Amino acid sequence: VAKRAGKAQWRRYQPSLHTPMLQQQQLRADLEQAIADEEFTLHFQPLVELGSGITLGMEALVRWQHPQRGMVPPDQFIPLAEETGLIVPLGLWVLEQGLAAAVTWRDLRPERPPYVSVNVSARQFRTTGFADEVMERLTAAGLPPSGLLLEITESMLLRDDEQAWTHLATLREHGIRVAIDDFGTGYSSLSYLRQVSVDVVKIDKSFVDGLGNENPHQNALVEGIVKLAQTLDLGVVAEGIEEPGDHAALHAMGCPYGQGYLFSRPLPGEDAERWFRENRAAAPLTPLTR
Ligand code: C2E
Ligand code: MG
Ligand code: MG
Ligand code: MG
Repeated sequence: VAKRAGKAQWRRYQPSLHTPMLQQQQLRADLEQAIADEEFTLHFQPLVELGSGITLGMEALVRWQHPQRGMVPPDQFIPLAEETGLIVPLGLWVLEQGLAAAVTWRDLRPERPPYVSVNVSARQFRTTGFADEVMERLTAAGLPPSGLLLEITESMLLRDDEQAWTHLATLREHGIRVAIDDFGTGYSSLSYLRQVSVDVVKIDKSFVDGLGNENPHQNALVEGIVKLAQTLDLGVVAEGIEEPGDHAALHAMGCPYGQGYLFSRPLPGEDAERWFRENRAAAPLTPLTR
């Protein structure tokens, strides 16, 4: 017993364990203040038609400009925001700002109106009235349902949650498209595609990275996902395209859409506007032939 207590004591004072915990607690406290202090901003990453290079829409990605720490990446604060429930107000803020941006882009390119793609946490889908809130915001912004796409994760679909499923169905009945994000990283990816109706599958970047190296197994796997999605009448977006070789391989296997640093990193709001204003969205790439 004494030995165990001694060990616990020793652990408590070990700085490498102690410090990150304090930091987490501090970050959590800061997060609550951050919404009020307007420390969040959105960046936008183009979603591209792989054959033509045309930008069809942009994904909204939240950024936290922390007064002391600088830019805190979403992977560090989204999980905290989900735990504390702050993701609900933060998510609504992201939605409103994203819709406002889409309104601007559509004025800049009315002939092919761009949409905004917004990441939504499972926690938001479990909130009462979530579908109504989304529809209200959409109407208030003056956008048609085609102006918004919602990204959910596999983990959300695996939950047995009546409320979330109802919200999902309602939103889709209103014509809002839904994408499964990070497809392939969860663990029952294929079975639920039978039951769940979504519109788009976003293949996770871990599958896309290195496609240009023509590893036969990886390429067969991704091609299989693309074909499966198309058989089910789903749109397919490949995430994390960094190399021209990845792009060419995806195009060759018939993947219609993509996103990645090759086309553009996520852009601050003004740069996203410029992207449409200067028509860089029209064809930033040499079109590929199949
Ligand atoms: P995600 O939705 O899968 O977004 C794609 C992430 O990959 C983004 O990271 C993006 O910057 C990054 N990315 C894009 N192209 C490339 C590429 O070519 N190579 C590499 N290595 N990375 C690329 P980011 O912005 O750090 O966001 C990370 C995650 O945080 C997002 O993954 C999403 O799950 C979450 N997130 C971001 N914004 C929001 C939000 O407003 N709400 C919620 N619930 N989650 C968000
Ligand atoms: Mg996403
Ligand atoms: Mg994600
Ligand atoms: Mg993703």
